[in-house]
Amino acid sequence: MTPEISGFTGRLVIHVTLYDALNDFLPPNRRGRPQVVAAPQGEAPALKHVLASLGVPPVEVSRALLDGVPAPLTQGVPPDARVAAYPYEVSPWPTANGAPRFVLDNHLGKLASYLRILGFDTLYRNDYQDPELARLAAGGRILLTRDRQLLMRNAVRYGHWLRNKAPRRQLQDVFAYFQLAEYVAFFSRCPHCNTPLQTVEKSAVLERLEPLTRRYYDDFRLCPNCGQIYWQGSHYERMQAWLHEVLTP
Ligand SMILES: [Zn+2]
Repeated sequence: MTPEISGFTGRLVIHVTLYDALNDFLPPNRRGRPQVVAAPQGEAPALKHVLASLGVPPVEVSRALLDGVPAPLTQGVPPDARVAAYPYEVSPWPTANGAPRFVLDNHLGKLASYLRILGFDTLYRNDYQDPELARLAAGGRILLTRDRQLLMRNAVRYGHWLRNKAPRRQLQDVFAYFQLAEYVAFFSRCPHCNTPLQTVEKSAVLERLEPLTRRYYDDFRLCPNCGQIYWQGSHYERMQAWLHEVLTP
């Protein structure tokens, strides 16, 4: 028996070219070059499985060509075929309920807060398990994660792999990739628990306010779920200025 030396010796192969940001899924030394995927004899794996074998989640692929012809990701790929795959410049998202809604993987708490402050319905807990995250994504939410295996689950139809660890860069990435600018509703949602905030009379929260807050502010919002009170104080202004700076191209 001859040992297989290179991994592809004596086997049929599929040639894959990844364009633009899809190269992010490859190790740095393999980016920008044609890729070769082993094609087991007698099988024609689906396009999405060919791409997944290179670490590319299908939800990040806008279109693919099979031997130069547009093809769905479910199409079988015969040996010796040439595949080209392109990323989204702007990702689609479920449009049934107005603004896009999100569910975030563990360890993305900062990004969750930012999206909520900007008014986006964002589910986040630091103990969601993968099946739960996939189920929530299947229900019409965009899944944001740094775990590409999670993004490859069949139930996930809309999602994005966050290339960067820094929350600020993550927010910039998500904002551009899903074109969120026109959906911003600043401080309409509780950053702590995701509940829509309610306008509340000053008199109703007066006894819970510090003396200076009581003296200088008149407009208050209340989270009906966790009871947190918000007003347009210095923290609010700093956060608004910071977000404006981060999100202005
Ligand atoms: Zn709350």
